[in-house]
Amino acid sequence: MSETLSVIVPCFNEEEALPHFYREICRVAGEMPQLTFELFFVDDGSSDGTLPLLRRLAREDGRVRYLSFSRNFGKEAAMYAGFTHCTGDYAAVMDADLQDPPSLLPEMLRLIREEGYDSVATRRVTRKGEPAIRSFFARRFYALMRHISKTEIVDGARDFRLMTRQYLDALLQLCEVNRFSKGLYGWVGFRTKWLEFENQERVAGTTKWSFWKLLLYSFDGIVAFSVAPLAAASLLGILLCLIALVAVGFIVVRTLLYGDPVSGWPSLACIITFIGGIQLLCVGILGQYLSKTYLEVKRRPIYLLKEDSAKAGEEHPQ
Ligand code: UDP
Ligand code: MG
Repeated sequence: MSETLSVIVPCFNEEEALPHFYREICRVAGEMPQLTFELFFVDDGSSDGTLPLLRRLAREDGRVRYLSFSRNFGKEAAMYAGFTHCTGDYAAVMDADLQDPPSLLPEMLRLIREEGYDSVATRRVTRKGEPAIRSFFARRFYALMRHISKTEIVDGARDFRLMTRQYLDALLQLCEVNRFSKGLYGWVGFRTKWLEFENQERVAGTTKWSFWKLLLYSFDGIVAFSVAPLAAASLLGILLCLIALVAVGFIVVRTLLYGDPVSGWPSLACIITFIGGIQLLCVGILGQYLSKTYLEVKRRPIYLLKEDSAKAGEEHPQ
C-alpha cells in the first residue's frame, strides 16, 4: 500500500485564497502519484464562506478532510488540531495563501526519504513585500531569542514543514497550552533540513496578523522558551542595591564633612519614581510567567470542535 501524506492547512477567513490553494495542491499531488494525499483543512472559526467551501470540497473530493472550531483559537491551535487528527505517514503544514509553495513538497519528501532527515523546514531569505517596521522588529526578536534561549529559533523560519510520523508523535507529546511551534520544533530535536526560498506574496485575501498580534505572539515565544527575563529582573535588583549602597556611603561621608543642609528633594523624587518603575517592571515580568503558569494549570482544551468532516456528513446535507 502506498504511503500517505497529510497536508494540514489552517484557515481563518480564507475563502478567497482557498480555491487557488486547492488547485495548486491538486496539481502537485498529481506529480506525486506514488503517495496518497490527505488534504486536512482546519477552519479556525472563520466568519466568511470558508466552512461552506470546505464542506463542498469534502463532498467532491475524497482526499479532503476538515475540522471546524467553535470560534477563532489561533493558528497554533489549528495546527495542533491538524497534527492530532491527521493519519498520514508524513505530515506537512502550510498556509492557505500559497505563501508556502506546495511545489516544494516533492523535494522535501525526497530529502526525508533518501537523505534520512526527520523533518524538512523552510525559511525565507527575504522579507520582500513586508512592512519595514515589521521586518525590523522580527529581526530584533530573533536576535534576542538567540541570546536568551537555549532552543534554536531560526530567523525567517516559516511554519511550512514536512515531517515524519515519528517527529510528529514527538511533537504531540508536548501538550502545553501556550504553544509556540517555532520553538517546539527545535526543542524536540531530530535531524532537520532547512530549505530556503524567497518570500512570496499572498495570492488573495489579507494577512491575519496585525502588528500587535505579532508583538504579543513574540512575548509568548519569549516566556515559553526563556527564563532570561526573570534572571534579568533579579540582576537589576542586585545592581540597584549596589548603587544604593555606594550612594549611602557617599552621603554619610559628605554629611560628616559638610554637615546636613536640607536639599535635594527633587532628585529624591526622581529616584523614588525610578525605583518604583523598576519594581513595577520586575513584578510585571514575574506576572507574565505567573499568568502563563496559571493558564497551563487550568488545563483548558487547546481548541473546541464544532464540526468534523469525518462525522459531519449527515448533519450538513446542503
Ligand atoms: N490563521 C489561522 N488562525 C488565525 C490566523 C491565521 O488559522 O487566527 C491561518 C491563515 O488562514 C493562514 C495562516 O494561518 O492560512 C497564516 O496566516 P497569514 O497568511 O495571515 O499570516 P502571514 O503569512 O501573513 O504571516
Ligand atoms: Mg500568509
